[in-house]
Amino acid sequence: MTSERRAFAYAPAPESRALVDIKPSYGLFVGGEFVDPADGTSFKTISPSSEEVLAEVAEAGPADVDRAVRAARRAFTGPWGRMRAAERAKYVFRLARLIQERARELAVLETLDNGKPIRESRDVDVPTAAAHFFYHAGWADKLAYAGLGPDPKPIGVAGQVIPWNFPLLMLSWKIAPALAAGNTVVLKPAETTPLTALLFAELCQQADLPPGVVNIVTGAGATGQALVEHPDVDKVAFTGSTDVGKAIARAIAGTDKRVTLELGGKAANIVFDDAPIDQAVEGIVNGIFFNQGHVCCAGSRLLVQESVYDEVLDSLRRRLGTLRLGDPMDKNTDIGAINSLAQLQRIRELTDAGEADGAERWSPPCELPEQGFWFPPTVFTGVGQSSRIAQEEIFGPVLSVLTFRTPDEAVAKANNTPYGLSAGVWTEKGSRILWMASKLRAGVVWANTFNRFDPTSPFGGYKESGFGREGGRQGMAAYLRSTDA
Ligand code: NAD
Repeated sequence: MTSERRAFAYAPAPESRALVDIKPSYGLFVGGEFVDPADGTSFKTISPSSEEVLAEVAEAGPADVDRAVRAARRAFTGPWGRMRAAERAKYVFRLARLIQERARELAVLETLDNGKPIRESRDVDVPTAAAHFFYHAGWADKLAYAGLGPDPKPIGVAGQVIPWNFPLLMLSWKIAPALAAGNTVVLKPAETTPLTALLFAELCQQADLPPGVVNIVTGAGATGQALVEHPDVDKVAFTGSTDVGKAIARAIAGTDKRVTLELGGKAANIVFDDAPIDQAVEGIVNGIFFNQGHVCCAGSRLLVQESVYDEVLDSLRRRLGTLRLGDPMDKNTDIGAINSLAQLQRIRELTDAGEADGAERWSPPCELPEQGFWFPPTVFTGVGQSSRIAQEEIFGPVLSVLTFRTPDEAVAKANNTPYGLSAGVWTEKGSRILWMASKLRAGVVWANTFNRFDPTSPFGGYKESGFGREGGRQGMAAYLRSTDA
C-alpha cells in the first residue's frame, strides 16, 4: 500500500475461477432435488468485489418452506429416523470427505459470493467446515456417552438460519451436529451468500443422502421468519444479528420449540505490558482484520495497558501498512471486499459517528478499487467508553482502541458492553490469564491467540450475544432430548 511496499509488491496470483461451474439459476433444494419455488420469485446474488451478477436464486415463500418442512418430517419419521446410528455416521463422514474432495471449488465459490480473500476460504472456512463434519460423524454412534442419559433422542426437524460472514462454515456448524444426532434439517442461507449452500445440496445428492434429510430454502428475512415460525419445526438454530435474534425469541415464545441463538459481539482484545508485543500485534490484526472484521467474535475493542500504548500502536500502524487490500481471488490478498452495499453503509455510518464522538480515525495509505464494496482497515484512538464505536458491533475492518492501567480496570472495561461472546488476553503470566478468564463475561476467552476455532470446543455467548453452544459435547446437547430423568 505504501510507496516502499509497492517496490516489493507481489505479482498478481489469481486463483482460477474456472474451478467452479456457476449455474445461471438455482432452485430450492427440497426432498433431495432442486425444485422451482411455488410462485416463481427469484433474486440475484452478486460478487461484492465486482458487483457482477453471479446467479439468479429462487426465493422461497411460505408454501415452499412448508414443502421443505414436510420433506424433512417425512425423512425424520422415515428412513433417517429408522437408520442405525453407525449407518447415519457414514453419511456424515461422506459429507466431510466430499467437502475435502471439492474444497477448491467450494473455496472459489465462497470467495466469489462473499468477497473474502481466497486464502481465508481455502485455508480456514472450507477445512474447518470439513472438520466439523468429521468431528460430528464420530458422535453419531456414541450419543449414549454425551452425558444426556443412556439413550438420548433426536429432537426432530431443525429450522436453521445462518448469516453471510462464514456461509459454508456456519452451515457446517448447524447441519453436522443436527444430522449426527439424528435430526433432519431445513436450512436458510443468507440472501447475499446462498451459493455454497446450494453446492452443498449437490454434495448431499452425491453422498446419496436420503431425500429430505437436508433441505435448503433460499430467500431473505421473510423466508427465515416463515421457517422459524413453522409449527412443525421442533428446533430453531439461528446465527445472526442480535436484533433478529430477539425477534425470533419473541416469535417463538410460548411454543415448545427448542432454540439456540448465536448473535453479535463486541469483543475486547486485552494487551498487558508483559505481553510479547510482536505476537500481540499479529493477534490484534488477526482479531479484527480477518474476514474484513465480519466476524461475530472479532476483537473489535483493543484494550492496551497504558505503559505499552505507544509501542503497540506504532507497531500496529506499521503492520497495517503491509496489508494488501484488493481482488479477493488473488492468493496474496489480505483484505477483501465488504459483503454488501448495506453493510458498507452501516460501517460508514458507525465510523462517522465515531469521529463525531471525538475519536481519531487512522487508516494506512490504501487505494480502494473503483468497482465493488470496499472499506480500508481503520483504527480509532481516543475512543470514549460510551461512544457508539465502543458499544455497537460494526462488523467491519474497524478497531476501537481504549487504554487501562490495572487488571481490574481492564476487566471492568471489557465487560462494559451488552455483548459477551469472546475476549482475548495477551500476557506472559499464566495466573493472570486464569484470573482474567474467570472475570470476563464472554463465552470464549483466548489467551495469547485470537479467532481460533475447533469443532471440539463449545462456542457461544452470554448476555445479548445469545444462548446455547455450538461445537463439542455441549453443541450436541442442543440437538438431543435427554433421557436422564
Ligand atoms: P441478520 O440477523 O441480518 O441475518 C441473519 C440471517 O437471518 C439471514 O439469513 C437473514 O436472512 C435471516 N433473517 C433476517 N430476518 C429474519 C427474521 N425476522 N426471522 C428469521 N430470519 C431472519 O445478520 P447478518 O447481517 O446476516 O449477520 C451478521 C450478524 O451475525 C452479526 O451480528 C454477527 O455478529 C452475527 N454472527 C454471530 C455468530 C455467532 O456465532 N454468535 C456467527 C456469525 C455471525
